[in-house]
Order: sequence, then structure tokens, then C-alpha cells
Amino acid sequence: MRLKYLLTEFGAGPGARPVDSDPTSAEMRAFYCDEFVLPLPDGHRFPMEKYRLLRERVTEYADVTLEVPDAAPLPSLARVHEPGYLDAVVGGRLDRAAIRAIGFPWSPELVERSRRSVGGTLAAGLAALVDGAGANLAGGTHHSFADRGEGFCVFNDVAVATRDLQADGLVDTVAVLDLDVHQGNGTAAIFSGDDSVFTLSVHGANNYPFRKEHSDFDVALPDGADDDTFLDAVDRGLDRALAHDPDVAFYVAGADPFSDDRLGRLAVSKGGLAERDGLVFDRCAAQGVPVAVVMGGGYGRDIADTVEIHAATIRAASGSRQPTHGTGART
Ligand SMILES: [Zn+2]
Repeated sequence: MRLKYLLTEFGAGPGARPVDSDPTSAEMRAFYCDEFVLPLPDGHRFPMEKYRLLRERVTEYADVTLEVPDAAPLPSLARVHEPGYLDAVVGGRLDRAAIRAIGFPWSPELVERSRRSVGGTLAAGLAALVDGAGANLAGGTHHSFADRGEGFCVFNDVAVATRDLQADGLVDTVAVLDLDVHQGNGTAAIFSGDDSVFTLSVHGANNYPFRKEHSDFDVALPDGADDDTFLDAVDRGLDRALAHDPDVAFYVAGADPFSDDRLGRLAVSKGGLAERDGLVFDRCAAQGVPVAVVMGGGYGRDIADTVEIHAATIRAASGSRQPTHGTGART
């Protein structure tokens, strides 16, 4: 009943469906916040426009509904982030070194954008519990620690959503399936020593961050790792993570293991990334684990490649909810 109450509250508004709707027939909900533009200096290397391009692509998917999430409430952010850091971000009092580590200039728009991005993951987590899968067309800000941000990550969306779902009594155990090419160092540190959350990270050994943290299961791949090597690591990682019997999984579906990524250092094909998505969604569905997918990084030399990879993940997430893939929900 608690679940129903909370999800009804969450779903209130135009287009909301009854909580007891059939998880295999309703559309998947995807949340976007690209309209909250973050002003960047000319020539900044972060491909901010990928989010708008991805949302425009997903608009064409008949089985996905798009919604703008609320900004993550400050008390939710405070479940993970230390008060001093949170206050400094919101109040514009980060020092120069902290801003440099994040990699974005501070602005009120940065705060709003960051909160909306976390809000998208909060909403995707709840949607996953109702519908079997949910998506945030942003998020995956896994380099954010409790007390600092780095690597284009201000707040750790998956950590905040995990703590929110646990605090509301909606889930006990959570798996973070981080298949972005960079290690989920912030997530690993935040959940270090916490048996309720299993952190998996499959990443490039020689990629940022150069000082790695300890996830519950890390696979560090050599430069140039191909589809077979990558997918073998994903498979082994899923074995470990799903043995933890999670109530929900957050999937950080970075597009940056792609061979033509500027930062990735690996040699995974688009077909290999589609197989990765299939492994995640099929294996979670077979075990009845709802999946909330978040985007993570993607720095393709051609931004169209990044958008195509992310869009394929959203399509696979929605398709994973079809009856042939199992129930995919545990409401
Ligand atoms: Zn990445």
C-alpha cells in the first residue's frame, strides 16, 4: 500500500496511469530535462546537445512517453551529499578548485539542470517499479561523491535515487550496473561497505578516473578491448550483481565504450553495445528485476553515433517489457 500511495502521488498529473496498470501493455516512461539549458563557453568539450537530439529521436517511439521531471528535492540530495557541499553548490559558493574538478562553470542554470537530471533518475526509478522499466534521458553522473563533484558530475543521481527508494521503503536491495567506459568512482565510494547496494563497474583500465575506487565488482579492460572481451566482462558482472537479488537495478548505459568515442579507448561496436543492452534487459527481466536506465557519457567523434547508441538503449529498454521477455516487473 505504501508503494501504491507513493506511486499515485508520483503519477499525479496529465497522462498518469493507474498504478495497477498492466506493466506489459503501458508505454515506458522516459524523463528528459534538455530544456534546462546549461550555458557553456564556446568550444567546451561536453556534447550538451546530445540530450536534445536523443529526446527528439525518442519522440518517434510510439511505446515511450516523454515527461519533464521535477527538480530533485534538497532533502533527497541530502540523503547522499554532505551539507557543506550541497550548500556550496546551491548557493554558488564552490571554490575555484571544486568548479574546475566538475568541469562546468557555476551558474544558477547549472544547479537547476543538475537537480532536474537527478529528478529524472528519481522518476525513472519509480517508473521502473510500476512499469518494469523506466528511463532518464540524462543522468548517470557517477563521478559525483558525497562531498564533491568531478568529471562533469555535480550530484550522484543513482545514489540519490537509491537512497530515496530505500528511505521510502520501496526497495531493500539495489544493483548499480555501471557499463559506462569510465569507472563509477563516486558511486563506489558512496556505497562502500553498504551490503544493501551492489556496485558493478565495467570500464577502461587506463581511462579517467586515474585513481579508481573499489566497487563490489570491477572489471578494468585494456585499451582496445573488443566486443567479445567487453561482453564477457558484462556477462560476468551481471552474474555477480544479480546474485545479490536486487529489488531494482539502475543501469548506467554509457555510449562511450564505442570504438569511435573520443575518450573511450575501447573498440566496442554499435552491435556490441546493443548486445550489452540485450544482456542487461533480458537477464534482469528473466529474474523479475525492474530496470531504471540512465544515460552516462558519450563523446563520439560524430555526435550522431552517440545519439544512435543511446536511442538504441531506450528502444531495448522499452522492448524488454514485452511478454516474450518475461514480466519484467515486480510491483
Ligand atoms: Zn563515461
